[in-house]
Amino acid sequence: MPAISVLDKATSHVIANLPIDDAHAVHAAANLARSAQPAWAALAVKERVRLLKLARKEMLKDKDKIQRALAQETGKVPFDVIGEMFSVCQDIGHYSRRAAKWLRPRKVGTFPLIGKKGLIYYQPYGLVGVIAPWNAPLTLAIGDALPALYAGNAVLVKPSEITPLAVKYTIDAFNRVLPPGVLQCLIGEGPTGAALVDQVDMIAVTGSSQTGRRVMERASRRLTPVLLELGGKDPMIVLSDADLERAVNAAAWGACFMTGQVCMSVERIYVEKAIATEFTRLLKAKIQAIRTGPDEPAATAQYGPFIGPKQIDIVKAHIAEALDKGARLETGGQQLPSADGSHYFAPTLLAGVDHSMKIMVEETFGPVACVMAVDDLEEAIRHANDSEFGLNASVWTRDIQRGIAIARRIQAGNVCVNDCILNAGVQGLPFGGIKQSGVGSRHGNEHGLHAFCYTQAVMVEPRRRKKEPTWFPYSVKTAERMEKLMMFLYGR
Ligand code: NAD
Repeated sequence: MPAISVLDKATSHVIANLPIDDAHAVHAAANLARSAQPAWAALAVKERVRLLKLARKEMLKDKDKIQRALAQETGKVPFDVIGEMFSVCQDIGHYSRRAAKWLRPRKVGTFPLIGKKGLIYYQPYGLVGVIAPWNAPLTLAIGDALPALYAGNAVLVKPSEITPLAVKYTIDAFNRVLPPGVLQCLIGEGPTGAALVDQVDMIAVTGSSQTGRRVMERASRRLTPVLLELGGKDPMIVLSDADLERAVNAAAWGACFMTGQVCMSVERIYVEKAIATEFTRLLKAKIQAIRTGPDEPAATAQYGPFIGPKQIDIVKAHIAEALDKGARLETGGQQLPSADGSHYFAPTLLAGVDHSMKIMVEETFGPVACVMAVDDLEEAIRHANDSEFGLNASVWTRDIQRGIAIARRIQAGNVCVNDCILNAGVQGLPFGGIKQSGVGSRHGNEHGLHAFCYTQAVMVEPRRRKKEPTWFPYSVKTAERMEKLMMFLYGR
């Protein structure tokens, strides 16, 4: 049976071999899920809440095993590993407290059809597929499975082939308390994901824009609804009145945390000319102070190795091309030698970049900060919007109202003022991208649950009437009455 070998990213050793689920296995999992889903949906919401809170307890019993797997398969440092599990715990708390309220049917007025009742029900799609990337396996795979489950769906999760272990172990733990079949994990690469798209009633994908396009094309064959959370090339605009120290701290973290392998990484920094030299000088010192590398103890390392050689090749190619075209390497720029074949990279700062360089237009996904000096705000906004992506962005100024006004001119699904990236952890805010960064959004309070439901409209006529004024037979008189009503309501 074909299998996937999962590597420890810090040592390149194989830590697990998992058999691949082919299209037949995906079909069988979908059948099991479909047979389990009606009973799951029929439970009172508070019963689903009770079971998912128990599932969290089961996950935490296996915390050491899951976190060890996550650290090994992603190469992440401890803070980022715990952050992922923390976010799953928080999601369960968030939805457990509010799911019953948000899934309650809503009454709506029926004007101009007075006397009728209008109701909106939030119905689960049925079977939801969740396809996840490698850079935040737990947060993204389990994070999207949860609202789908609370809403009454059965869920099939396909984690990335590069990082399937922590997700698989978490689902195993959940399944000690969830009804069989309601939540399953499928192992495999693109073809397993494609087979999943063919089986489900709704598909949520987090991954590259290329995968998003492929999934949307395939989903269109059965008109399956999609939620696509895709790549980014996020701009940071630093105005001359910004708190420089805070902006510099944010730029160093935003560009380099998780080895820069974050959809919302700060990938482009536009700084007003008046402060560009000082900003670059301070940022260089900050970036040089970041600790990483094969010999750095876990306790002090700020980020780990790259996920693999493909990723490091992209980053090296982007840097080389930028230098070729005239960018200045302020610090870093090279792979850090390691005896065991792992892929560590020095935190890097480039200045003098422009939009003729791939590093300013394509997703780089590496610990690289790129600073471009701009004449003024208008130039900064023009460059920020000159992108095929539109995920996250940030604006840095002491004038909050001006910052908000600028945020609203940036073409991105999410914008921070004097902050970056952390907005994705705020459940009340929707998170999603525009352009090549995605379709739809997750989170956003009740929207986060409703994204995994279809709305069913129910209209009721409670009176005993033989006929409606709007039914046959039509007459000139009824048409005249209708016209009179229109003019009375809207014609004055
Ligand atoms: P990827 O697109 O290579 O893979 C993502 C998932 O899709 C994997 O599970 C993969 O097996 C699956 N897949 C691949 N081809 C498929 C197909 N044809 N049909 C169905 N499934 C298929 O992405 P990746 O390299 O794992 O992750 C990095 C990308 O994810 C980056 O572009 C990053 O910006 C993006 N990302 C976006 C967000 C967000 O919330 N917007 C969050 C994290 C990562």
